[in-house]
Amino acid sequence: MSDTDTRDPTSLRTPIVAVLGHVDHGKTSLLDKIRGSAVIEGEAGAITQHIGATAVPLDIISTIAGDLVDPDDFDLPGLLFIDTPGHHSFTTLRSRGGALADIAILVVDVNDGFQPQTLEALDILKRSETPFIVAANKIDTVPGWKENEDSPINDTYEAQTDRVRERLDESLYEIIGNLSDEGFSADLYWRVQNFQRNVGVVPVSAMTGEGVPDLLTVMMGLSQRYMKEEMEIDVAGPGVGTVLEVKEEKGFGTTIDTVLYDGTIRSDDRIVVGGQNEPIVTDVRALLQPRPLAEIRTESRFEKVDEVSAASGIKVAAPELADAMAGAPVRVVRDRDIDEVVAEVQAELADIAVDTAEEGVVVKADTLGSLEAMADALDDAEVPIVRAEVGDVAPRDVSVASTAEDGKQKAILGFNVDTLEDANQRAEIEDVTIFTDEVIYQLIEEYEEYVEGIEQAQQDTILENITRPARFRILPDHTFRQNDPAVVGVEVNSGTIQNNANVVKFEGNEPDRVGQVKGIQEQGEDVDEARAGNRVSVAIEGPTVGRGIEEDDELWIEIPEKHAKILEQELASEIPGDELEALNMYLDKQRSRDPFWGK
Ligand code: GDP
Repeated sequence: MSDTDTRDPTSLRTPIVAVLGHVDHGKTSLLDKIRGSAVIEGEAGAITQHIGATAVPLDIISTIAGDLVDPDDFDLPGLLFIDTPGHHSFTTLRSRGGALADIAILVVDVNDGFQPQTLEALDILKRSETPFIVAANKIDTVPGWKENEDSPINDTYEAQTDRVRERLDESLYEIIGNLSDEGFSADLYWRVQNFQRNVGVVPVSAMTGEGVPDLLTVMMGLSQRYMKEEMEIDVAGPGVGTVLEVKEEKGFGTTIDTVLYDGTIRSDDRIVVGGQNEPIVTDVRALLQPRPLAEIRTESRFEKVDEVSAASGIKVAAPELADAMAGAPVRVVRDRDIDEVVAEVQAELADIAVDTAEEGVVVKADTLGSLEAMADALDDAEVPIVRAEVGDVAPRDVSVASTAEDGKQKAILGFNVDTLEDANQRAEIEDVTIFTDEVIYQLIEEYEEYVEGIEQAQQDTILENITRPARFRILPDHTFRQNDPAVVGVEVNSGTIQNNANVVKFEGNEPDRVGQVKGIQEQGEDVDEARAGNRVSVAIEGPTVGRGIEEDDELWIEIPEKHAKILEQELASEIPGDELEALNMYLDKQRSRDPFWGK
């Protein structure tokens, strides 16, 4: 603490709020609505625009919420909303191994219901154990809805017709049902007693502001009730934060937009920042905040400040930041030992580091947090990773992927990243497949489809090179030639006779090779194979009819032991049922002699 600092050393910081949900369900609109209401309700300057975040103080919240909130019930200072909605920024926003956001709003369009990114957001919330509420948005689009701008939900609900209320209820219960399917016990927020155990659903309209008072009230109540202890920080202590974005800024070089969640950062502080290769130790050159709207016409969009305290969003300008990573920790050194702080940053980075295997796919993602989320999802899908890095897909990633021995691993999975042009060219030459997507599970699904395709092709080739089982019978009075080769009419009982396969006859369970198929004809035409049920004539090189084989004999295609093993263990589900039947009968015969045959 500096000599002039007279503040209470511990104080309660603002909870950090993130907004998640499927695209177009209204995340941005909801944030805009909250900001807009706050601007209208507040005195000038009462809400502060941070870098990457908006702080809405308690008195503004209580004005917006009206009767719903009594400011005397609260001692948290308000809510800090992260401005970039979506789970992409949510995963970036980490702190000491957990989510940086203390609380989240999951936006679900009442008409559209649960969608892929809703599920993905839920999954991320579950993993990070972040408390959240569901904003069931766009209630104003329920057919017949009568708008009551900025009204609490109860008032506007009462003002609707029965039919409209029924329709809304149906949508809300569908959302509650979906949440339950995902393992969350949920209910309309006014019925929820314990927000730690149950997820509250708040009907809102980001367009008309209906339900927004409720939403803010629930957020505030939830934070106050369950998070107060976590909000107690040493406000004057050395600042701790997370890089939200690394940005070039005219006149300042590379800067890091940072969310500070503990302590204070000053414009003369030395800081340690997580970098691509190692922690970066550097001195703050300037702390920048957005200039208030009225002064926006001046030459810089930013104004310099001497210090900021958590929770807040701040742009930090400092040398050597080119290697800084989104999602990486930022720590102020102040009076502490520099090595100790570097070790802390290293430990945090190691905590995020993805476990890699000797062999596997290459993974790229835009931030450390999303890289971690990718790694988790791939782990669930049992896909090993050989290399995981933050950044666009580059030629050297292709080089790494191209060394994979298993064709299925000659792949790069890029989440929320671009592919550099020369990486694409290289990939084509090296036969590496690059997948990119903005939804993790879709990305993994694409990759799984690709793997399935390869496996199918592999099985098809195996099947082509493997002897197929067949059981067939020489028809009486169908000897067309005695020998060299013997030509007989046969009926295929089960399986497939293929040209050039060897033929055996069982004496009891003792197989005896009698010859080799040297031609198959069906109704006078040469064919390559005969399937179960077919009657064909077969030329067999080796035996003489009457010696070796007889009319009415049951014959088999000889299956090499290795082939029998592959057929039984790997291809049983690929081959037709009758072929499997022939195989099993063949195995039974062989195994009654030698129980381990083909195993
Ligand atoms: P995001 O992709 O989740 O950030 O969604 P946006 O906030 O961009 O909203 C997507 C579209 O839905 C836009 O056209 C919005 O105007 C519209 N929208 C969002 N919220 C509401 C709402 O409550 N009511 C209505 N009628 N439209 C909405």
